[in-house]
Amino acid sequence: MGMQAFLQKVLLLELWQGMWVTLKNQFRPHITVEYPRETVEFAPRFRGVPRLRKDPQTGEELCISCLLCEAICPTECISIVAEKRPDGKGKQLVSFTINYERCCFCGLCVDPCPTKPITAIYMSHDYEFAGYDRDAYVATREELVDGKPVKIYTR
Ligand code: SF4
Ligand code: SF4
Repeated sequence: MGMQAFLQKVLLLELWQGMWVTLKNQFRPHITVEYPRETVEFAPRFRGVPRLRKDPQTGEELCISCLLCEAICPTECISIVAEKRPDGKGKQLVSFTINYERCCFCGLCVDPCPTKPITAIYMSHDYEFAGYDRDAYVATREELVDGKPVKIYTR
């Protein structure tokens, strides 16, 4: 063992170097986000869970029950039940659920949605759904429109 390696071992130089790095950074501003107490601002294209929306002008439901989003979803987490309208023109929703537990946030369900000028289904910025109950991950039609209530655990 050379003299330098011997001194390094005896004086625990590497340990003190490591301690020095820790000490130096103690007094610098934090560069990490202290989630969940702090959050970052998302880019407009951030993809949270998919949700449904109404026509902003009329307040009417936009979804026309075409089932395209259900058909394209690779994880089969969308379930739609539709029936014929009483006037015989097209279909209307009976139920629309998305199982967020299976959703992989791919956004494919939005691409074929035919409603204009905005799609009935869209990728929201909602993402905070940690919980203990598996059933809580299934979003109903109303929750898809209004947003699923978020349980705050630590803030
Ligand atoms: S984002 Fe992807 S996985 Fe989630 S509901 Fe849409 S198509 Fe399915
Ligand atoms: S693709 Fe759009 S209009 Fe068709 S069922 Fe899905 S949300 Fe409704």
